[in-house]
Amino acid sequence: MTAPTAPITQDVMTLPRKVADGPVNLIGLTRDQLAEALLEAGTAPKQVKMRVGQLWQWLYQKGVREFDLMTNLSKDYRQMLADKFVIALPEVVSRHLSEDGTRKYLVRIAGGHEVEVVYIPEEGRGTLCISSQVGCTLTCSFCHTGTQKLVRNLTAGEIVGQVMLARDDLDEWPKADRSTQGDARLLSNIVLMGMGEPLYNFENVRDAMNIAMDPEGICLSRRRITLSTSGVVPEIARTAQEIGCLLAVSFHATTDDVRDKLVPINKRWNIEELLAALKAYPKASNSERITFEYVMLKGVNDSDEDARRLVKLIKGIPAKINLIPFNEWPGAPYQRSDWKRIKAFSEIVYKAGYASPIRTPRGEDIMAACGQLKSATERARKSRKQIEAEAGLPQN
Ligand code: SAH
Ligand code: SF4
Repeated sequence: MTAPTAPITQDVMTLPRKVADGPVNLIGLTRDQLAEALLEAGTAPKQVKMRVGQLWQWLYQKGVREFDLMTNLSKDYRQMLADKFVIALPEVVSRHLSEDGTRKYLVRIAGGHEVEVVYIPEEGRGTLCISSQVGCTLTCSFCHTGTQKLVRNLTAGEIVGQVMLARDDLDEWPKADRSTQGDARLLSNIVLMGMGEPLYNFENVRDAMNIAMDPEGICLSRRRITLSTSGVVPEIARTAQEIGCLLAVSFHATTDDVRDKLVPINKRWNIEELLAALKAYPKASNSERITFEYVMLKGVNDSDEDARRLVKLIKGIPAKINLIPFNEWPGAPYQRSDWKRIKAFSEIVYKAGYASPIRTPRGEDIMAACGQLKSATERARKSRKQIEAEAGLPQN
């Protein structure tokens, strides 16, 4: 069978929440789903709402993973939970620490698939870059993830689970003796800028972020969560309505010709349609500006004329432009624009009245920078293969 020619598809598999008759994983269930599961398990209807709140606090505020430690629940109730449910997170396979403090986790999810999660410490805060899919159906030509075929969508539990395992590694759950770590949270911000197109896995991303934002959940303000999309126009308004987080858009070009090549979803929804959706984004305001991500590719999209076209195009949209020096990966068909060129581009945008920060590449030495994710997975696969070959195991 030949591969379908359509480059863009949403027809991807998501694992069911409940696998056969096995126990249900509590992580990632919405409040309603949890309430329903508890009712089905025999919880008195009058008590369900309270139990949901108690469980969420144990799971997401305290980081507790054993039912036995949930001391405000009766022994019998804890036993019932242990019989019928599990608390399961994705497994951290390896952890790399960059010279600049960036941490990259290779995480294994059900089915043996792997995704990458990156923690970036900053002054007084820290950002976690999480993945929404294994690979990506889209094929942006400058992105390493785009060279990896999509394997599947992550479940809501696997998405919020990335936040939880990072908090484990940062040792950022409240201590039993109630001592706190000071005011600043180590993991204070989330960006959906890892592997995958979050708007092609909308429901799971929404459910996971609603847990991240809930006061009884991870309790992060919606303004500390940024979702980056390559431009799935029909889902943009829904992002404001059903998630309410900040929006970033991978713009990257100022003409359809160039954007068609860099971000092929542009052939489906072009610059004009994308801009119309962004102009209508209900949450956009001066205090909640839309971030336009713009990767700086030498000789491709980095001229003064591009900069001037860009500011004209976005006129009327509360925006800031995030210039991303291209991060190279093995075999990449582009080069990073020269520093002088990036500065000149930034100046034009800035003079037109837009903030135009240049994103400092973080974690480059561990291939953790934007658009570099994938390689560790490949390397890990290779080395496993090598190990198997050396051990004389049959190769498939
Ligand atoms: N799929 C989503 C989110 C993940 S990518 C999206 O495309 O928006 C996060 C950001 O990194 C996007 O703006 C993406 O275009 C950018 N990016 C991808 N590859 C890159 C590379 N090699 N160098 C710099 N930025 C890159
Ligand atoms: Fe997918 Fe985003 Fe990479 Fe494009 S830039 S291939 S949408 S992960």
